Amino acid sequence: MQVRNGIAVSPGVAMGPAFVLGVEDFRIPHDTLSVTAVESEIARLRCALENVAKEISANEALAEQHLGKEYAAIFAAHLQFARDPKLLERIESLIREQHQTPEYAATQVLRKFARELQHLGDKYLAERAADIFDLERSLLRHLLGEQREELSHLTAPVVVLAHNLTPSETAGLNSKYVKAFVTETGGSTSHTAILAGALEIPAIVGVGEFISDISGGEMIIVDGNEGRLIIAPDAETQARYLTEQERFRTQSLALQKLKLGRVQTKDKVDIEVCGNIEFPEEAKTCKKRGADGVGLYRTEFLYLGSMRERTEEDHYNAYSKVLKKFPELPVTIRTLDVGADKIPDSMRAIYRDHSNPELGLRSIRVSLEHTDLFKTQLRAILRAAVHGNVRVMFPLVSSIGEFRQAKMVLRDVCEDLEEQKIEHKPDIPVGMMVEVPSAAIMADEFAREVDFFSIGTNDLIQYTLAADRSDPSVAKYYNASDPSVLFLVRRVLFAARDANLPVSVCGQMSSDPKFIPLLLGMGLRQLSVTPQKIPLIKQLICNISIEDCQKHAKKVYQLDLARDIENFLRGELKRFLPESEVSR
Ligand code: PEP
Ligand code: MG
Repeated sequence: MQVRNGIAVSPGVAMGPAFVLGVEDFRIPHDTLSVTAVESEIARLRCALENVAKEISANEALAEQHLGKEYAAIFAAHLQFARDPKLLERIESLIREQHQTPEYAATQVLRKFARELQHLGDKYLAERAADIFDLERSLLRHLLGEQREELSHLTAPVVVLAHNLTPSETAGLNSKYVKAFVTETGGSTSHTAILAGALEIPAIVGVGEFISDISGGEMIIVDGNEGRLIIAPDAETQARYLTEQERFRTQSLALQKLKLGRVQTKDKVDIEVCGNIEFPEEAKTCKKRGADGVGLYRTEFLYLGSMRERTEEDHYNAYSKVLKKFPELPVTIRTLDVGADKIPDSMRAIYRDHSNPELGLRSIRVSLEHTDLFKTQLRAILRAAVHGNVRVMFPLVSSIGEFRQAKMVLRDVCEDLEEQKIEHKPDIPVGMMVEVPSAAIMADEFAREVDFFSIGTNDLIQYTLAADRSDPSVAKYYNASDPSVLFLVRRVLFAARDANLPVSVCGQMSSDPKFIPLLLGMGLRQLSVTPQKIPLIKQLICNISIEDCQKHAKKVYQLDLARDIENFLRGELKRFLPESEVSR
């Protein structure tokens, strides 16, 4: 049994066979063979190995013909491994003695051999491990043939393990079969992490290198509450986690049953708790979890995972679907926020030469440079707005000029629709995300021009502290408790209060219960959170009073170290929530 730790980004516990993405890209059957099947399975293994050897020889001949003898020599090592009688003997003995499938036995033996090579302390031999992984891939391809189960066509539950998952890959995961995922890279508020919350599956990111230690099909436990990955757990650990899984499920069901409507603090102050969504289909769960509206609809996910340009009708249909679920409650549609880690295939050309994407052509900047795209989206928003209570907001605004420019395009679109006599709602509230420090610093000035603010702490933290939100190597610098971040959040809340403007926090900070008393104490009355967290956050709000929160916030203002603030907030949370809920 091995235990690895990473960043917990979506709660819950899941167990299942490993599906190692990027290595085999398909699932390894881990069933036990019947005694009578052993000999025929060994024959199948030998036949597959023979085919692999033939394939390598053919590649060797091809390389020799086109590139010369010295390049062809690379394949000699592969061939030697494929024909190594000792390896074959080790695989066969697992099939004979432990009745393992050839796929599982081969992956166990080859992985172990590769690890031994990697740890011999010899650079040349360590590099040969790559040949073994290559051999494993070819052998599995031959063994599984047409039967191989790919990620897009799963038929049984798995735990997905990958070096990295892009937001579009994550968006494509089928939560019916993918019970959890774990990645080597990634940060706590990366979009991949956010999507795990949307899919409501346990997830851990930023574990560091572990993929090469795992064979496909191996039993995995993912503890998304504590950020713990357990490889090949022993029986006692499995039993403990089965109990933990049941406890988490019962608690979640109990919370969902609460069906809290609008909530108030103990001293009767109304707090609005909306949900963040990425896909129109999520509107249903969001409503079910008790959302008072949609505080952030990340529309760029309409583009991810598709090569096709999105039409006005695509946008309109998506927005109408959300509004059908929320015909009266507020729905805040954020215009396209592409760039950084969210690059649609249809826009790859724009990003070919960008070396620093987090500081590059992102979000509103893209919309303002590609006004055709922007106008298509705005037309659809204004048309869909007739079906509900729609607000529109622009992401990553960094200067007042930029906000004015975006508003001007909106005005043009409105005029076009008017001229064309197309039904639309012209006077919807227009707001902005505050997620760049310049916008927070200038909040008083922005407050004269916008109808509302929504604070995007995920980006605000990374730009304030110069720590990439997706990079686990700087995770310790990325901290929502940093006094500089709290200073900027407070600044925006004060600017909104002075101008009597609605303001919400829609970054992950407001989905973390430990920040709720502090944010309310600072003056926040509207939040937008991961739908999964709505019941817990509403329950917490009912347990606290604004008076208490204000005292709590004053104590935080006196602390100047992020670590001390974090510890204080954690400790205080225990006063407001039962111990069992604190880690959720
Ligand atoms: C944010 O930056 O806090 C935010 C909500 O936007 P996103 O996570 O989509 O960048
Ligand atoms: Mg953002």
